[in-house]
Amino acid sequence: MPAGGRAGSLKDPDVAELFFKDDPEKLFSDLREIGHGSFGAVYFARDVRNSEVVAIKKMSYSGKQSNEKWQDIIKEVRFLQKLRHPNTIQYRGCYLREHTAWLVMEYCLGSASDLLEVHKKPLQEVEIAAVTHGALQGLAYLHSHNMIHRDVKAGNILLSEPGLVKLGDFGSASIMAPANSFVGTPYWMAPEVILAMDEGQYDGKVDVWSLGITCIELAERKPPLFNMNAMSALYHIAQNESPVLQSGHWSEYFRNFVDSCLQKIPQDRPTSEVLLKHRFVLRERPPTVIMDLIQRTKDAVRELDNLQYRKMKKILFQEAPNGPGAEAPEEEEETEPYMHR
Ligand code: ADP
Ligand code: MG
Repeated sequence: MPAGGRAGSLKDPDVAELFFKDDPEKLFSDLREIGHGSFGAVYFARDVRNSEVVAIKKMSYSGKQSNEKWQDIIKEVRFLQKLRHPNTIQYRGCYLREHTAWLVMEYCLGSASDLLEVHKKPLQEVEIAAVTHGALQGLAYLHSHNMIHRDVKAGNILLSEPGLVKLGDFGSASIMAPANSFVGTPYWMAPEVILAMDEGQYDGKVDVWSLGITCIELAERKPPLFNMNAMSALYHIAQNESPVLQSGHWSEYFRNFVDSCLQKIPQDRPTSEVLLKHRFVLRERPPTVIMDLIQRTKDAVRELDNLQYRKMKKILFQEAPNGPGAEAPEEEEETEPYMHR
């Protein structure tokens, strides 16, 4: 039997203490889906005790491979519990109900990938610098505690209402460096993670590689090789030269930052700590860059056509004074009015 026991078992006190005993259905209201992944879905919700807005990631541990799913939940909760930094998502606690764990976190408006989706255009260089700087500070914090994120990409970099950048999604993270398992999302994976299958270990520098790929993603809307299937991309990353920024209009600082992140040999690649001193992130920029980007995105969401609007309206959820439920109580998704128009 694995360390966390069978799915849902709270016999081990070290496991039991990870969960609040209250019924989450009674504590959280107005749930609205804002994202989903392999495990289930993420919701906007309101804490009925203080009307605070939160995000809830619901992870089921029933059905096939329930024990493995339970282990994954315990791992993610343990990881989230350790995090205390302005650039990592803040964890509020976890509840259990009907073979589903409710991971409660601070609420963010959306991910950097959502921004690309709304604008259908690359971000501006100052915006990329601000997003990258925030993510890099979160990574430097993780790495200084021997943790590795292992799934850095625009979809896992979140933006909060006051304009802060937060690393999210610790479902793939490693509590210990060095590590050696094959984990991450193919197009963003560092060569040494791909090669770790037969060559051994890697450390926090794999996140630096993925951050470099994320910079290209923010500058070009997609990571390199995205038109290939995942297997071919993995082979390509391991065998070929590193990608570079395509357009000539980016500054020398930005190109150099990306080139540094994408050094194939980990020993040649700077650590997150060293990169914090790079001029690309230190160069002066207006302090309101992220807030302006959020405002620009909200305005753009209001202009989207119906189909796109439905997908992206979550970026406006926090704006309604009493949340989305106030304007569209418990309505069927299909009949829900376009409340912010
Ligand atoms: P997965 O492991 O499936 O990638 P994530 O934790 O990345 O799960 O969550 C999936 C999506 O849900 C994210 O890409 C993001 O759009 C949304 N999301 C996750 N956490 C939050 C949060 N705290 N606030 C707002 N949206 C979130
Ligand atoms: Mg994710």
